[in-house]
Amino acid sequence: MSGSGAAVGAHLDQGLPGTAPVVLRERGQCEVFCGLSSIVWLHRKMHDAFFLVVGSRTCAHLLQSAAGVMIFAEPRFATAILQERDLAGMADCMEELDGVVTRLLARRGDIRTLFLVGSCPSEVIKLDLHKAAERLTRAQAGVEGHQVKVLAFSGSGLETTFTQGEDQCVAALVPELPRAPVGERNLLVVGTLADVVQDQFGRLFDALDIGPVHFLPGTDTRAFPPLGDGTSVLFAQPFFNETAGLLAARGARLLSAPFPFGVEGTLGWLAAAARAWGVSDARFDAVTAAPAARAQRALIRYTEVLAGRRITFLPDSQLEIPLARFLARECGMALVEVGTPYLDRRAMQPELDLLPAGVRLVEGQDVDRQLERIAADRPDLTVCGLGLANPLEALGLRTKWSIELVFTPIHGFEQAADLAELFARPLIRSARLKV
Ligand code: SF4
Repeated sequence: MSGSGAAVGAHLDQGLPGTAPVVLRERGQCEVFCGLSSIVWLHRKMHDAFFLVVGSRTCAHLLQSAAGVMIFAEPRFATAILQERDLAGMADCMEELDGVVTRLLARRGDIRTLFLVGSCPSEVIKLDLHKAAERLTRAQAGVEGHQVKVLAFSGSGLETTFTQGEDQCVAALVPELPRAPVGERNLLVVGTLADVVQDQFGRLFDALDIGPVHFLPGTDTRAFPPLGDGTSVLFAQPFFNETAGLLAARGARLLSAPFPFGVEGTLGWLAAAARAWGVSDARFDAVTAAPAARAQRALIRYTEVLAGRRITFLPDSQLEIPLARFLARECGMALVEVGTPYLDRRAMQPELDLLPAGVRLVEGQDVDRQLERIAADRPDLTVCGLGLANPLEALGLRTKWSIELVFTPIHGFEQAADLAELFARPLIRSARLKV
């Protein structure tokens, strides 16, 4: 569940002259969950999908502990465990996989899309899960009354970190999207959103007369949204590098916008779609003024706690830059360091433009160096992965688990105060303990 690379030290990337902030690049040991973690929120969103990890007992343990509550319900994920015989090449893994899938689908008639999820062990022994998916889809086509699409993506810790698993999963869906008729316009919102947030955005787009709007991934995996030259894409999450490439290759127009966190981010995000649809400023203001004002009022309670407090983000979820922008500009926090696992300038430029000047931005990770800087900086709050929280708390520092930010509905106007509260809570608790 952690990865490491050769420590080649750090160097400065001066970026685009005059426009981009200075970025410190680090390559060393990193501490971050693998892409299998994404199954935990993806399976909640896609109600008729099943995720079958082709992996080891370690992978099964990760899923069990990350999504422990699911043991009380009929789960929609499982692990086909590769045994030593498989790893030693003494067994025909494909034959065994076919058997597992056939038994699973015979037992679970509710599955419409089955994802075969690659792991470190399946990558190491070079199991071609894409071919297996094609073969199993063909085999399922002959089963009367049970049409199942089998797809594959990698959640291996050798290839993916944490939120990249969602990118890989959604990228696997792109070839399935039917071609939209020539000249037909639509808006595609990409990124897993809680159903309540999806409904809120749907109502705002409706009021702005923007549509038809589709969300990917959606709850019904059989209803694939159409994609074509008339499709405009808005990303709800900042970690869709691979998916963005595939959508652009199919002719979609990728809208450039900040991400919909906080009032400012949500306004900027909606405005990108409004511009593409030619919505007038007056109409835009009329639709967004009330929810934006409501969100600003709800934020006050938490900005009183957060203003002036110092925060460091360790690189983990790729949400760091948009969240840092929200905390600095709307909550008055001081950014000590903002780490991100990857910096995709194309997707992130609207966010980089909004960051305070001179912010210390770090791409990649060398965990020892970062911990040394935290010990010297002693920020009021550090956002980090689960594995680093306890050591930092032991140093008397307050932490926030980054994984919570992926599980919790934090997008849009109505959730802006909830998002601020996630950061305020550890500070309030700490103040109470001191009293
Ligand atoms: Fe660990 Fe790799 Fe399995 Fe992730 S995919 S749980 S990193 S063995």
